[in-house]
Amino acid sequence: MAFRGRIVGTKRPFFNLTLKPMAKYIFVTGGVISSLGKGITSASIGKILESRGLKVTLMKFDPYINVDPGTMNPYQHGEVYVTEDGAETDLDLGHYERFTHASMTKFNNATTGQVYNAVISRERRGDYLGKTIQVIPHITNEIKDRVRKVAEVSGADIVISEIGGTVGDIESLPFLEAARQLGLEVGRDNVLYVHVTLVPFIRCAEEIKTKPTQHSVGTLREIGIQPDILICRSERPLSNEVKEKISLFCNVQKEAVIEAKDVDSIYEIPIVFKKQILDEIILSHFHLICKFSDLKDWEKNVVERSVNPRHKVVIAIVGKYLALQDAYKSIYESLVHAGIYNDAKVEIKKVDSEDIEKRGVKEMLGQVSGILVPGGFGYRGIEGKVRAIRFARENKIPFLGLCLGMQCAVIEFARNACGLKDANSTEFRQKNKYPVIALLEEQVNVKDMGGTMRLGAYPCKIKKNTLASKVYGKMLIHERHRHRYEFNGKYKKLLEKKGLVFSGIYPKGNLVEIVELKDHPYFIAVQFHPEFKSKPDNPHPLFRDFIKATLKL
Ligand code: GLN
Repeated sequence: MAFRGRIVGTKRPFFNLTLKPMAKYIFVTGGVISSLGKGITSASIGKILESRGLKVTLMKFDPYINVDPGTMNPYQHGEVYVTEDGAETDLDLGHYERFTHASMTKFNNATTGQVYNAVISRERRGDYLGKTIQVIPHITNEIKDRVRKVAEVSGADIVISEIGGTVGDIESLPFLEAARQLGLEVGRDNVLYVHVTLVPFIRCAEEIKTKPTQHSVGTLREIGIQPDILICRSERPLSNEVKEKISLFCNVQKEAVIEAKDVDSIYEIPIVFKKQILDEIILSHFHLICKFSDLKDWEKNVVERSVNPRHKVVIAIVGKYLALQDAYKSIYESLVHAGIYNDAKVEIKKVDSEDIEKRGVKEMLGQVSGILVPGGFGYRGIEGKVRAIRFARENKIPFLGLCLGMQCAVIEFARNACGLKDANSTEFRQKNKYPVIALLEEQVNVKDMGGTMRLGAYPCKIKKNTLASKVYGKMLIHERHRHRYEFNGKYKKLLEKKGLVFSGIYPKGNLVEIVELKDHPYFIAVQFHPEFKSKPDNPHPLFRDFIKATLKL
């Protein structure tokens, strides 16, 4: 771990046995209600500390018993975020990667299921030498080990751990207890507790209420955690008086009572924190003096560009998990990033693919500037997606297909441009005459559903003089995957002859990764998930050029 130009203040940091400065730990908890934006808060804290020259990493603890969210329905959990190393993780890891330079790995997300799994496996092996295995200390030790492991693997100066759920829940207790114990072990100066809470405005009383926050902090203190910083989510500004009251009743310095009013763009949050010198408050707790930063680049290139854009485009997302805002989180964010780059407001029209089947494609997609078909599983809604893609192809509307979106583009092309009637994927119809999408040999006998798809980053070679080569500007790329089915190589020649261009190939397995069309303003579909690699100040090229193409219409 390097010092990265910072000077350590008067109090000496704790040293581990190799005499390297130990990482500092921040725990982020949530109170009163869920959905207060703990993930964005954690990511924004990461951002402001990173801008001061510190290396940060983040991790998320999820108190549910599933080993990972990979087997959960999107309506239960929202998007499953895939890391480079192929872990299926919580979507908050997406915020962490979008806001900071930290790279997420399988170590950066842990669930109750994983923690118990590890402890029980050890118990079965006899590693505990006959002891009784208990929540304290065995489960809490496993949790602390995981925090330390992330510190070690990342080499970060600061490890920010977000604890899912709301304080007071039964499930999250072992995680909070572990956070408390870690503070005891490494010293209070090396651990900082941030509590995200709600300060509601009661309309009929015309008053802001601090009681829920007092109660939530009270619950935290009962389990031995005194928060150092309160992030107060509220509709209205917090007056001096309110801050003083919260400070007094919650035993938190007044300056550390941070106002977090609702904002238009999540990317403003680091600026909001910076204005209240949250970075200084954290550094002073840790006795760190770091280089100065003003976050001007972020403010100019991300925040300012997202307000009052010159253009507007309407992009249809033709999917089936549309009722839940979180199900396509990274896709929505990638479109925002591409909009920022192109000086355009990207308005998203959520189109349920089953409505296309019922009400017709023209009615649903007649007015849009671009069509995006995202990933998904199962037959429901497929025919609507295929019709949407045909509409985009025939009417020269910019189209971007992602994962299942690529598979549907191939099905559509096989059926309507190559005359392979009823061509399909074996995922939807086991026995069909033209299985243009099918399982790889190695997937045929897979019985376990958890963690067995083709997951994580794979290299892809790009063909010269194609749209893909123009978009990426390089010939070898790495993109993240999460799927079981693949393009069936048997049909490559025929589809190619009819005009489909296979512009990206995974060389080792000769698998199709990108397909595209000539004589179309922008028609490209990929077997991977580019949305996991887009950043607000560095949009993914596929999204960037998709939006650029819609502006030319
Ligand atoms: N259901 C398809 C498969 O398993 C696509 C998956 C996806 O879109 N993520 O291959």
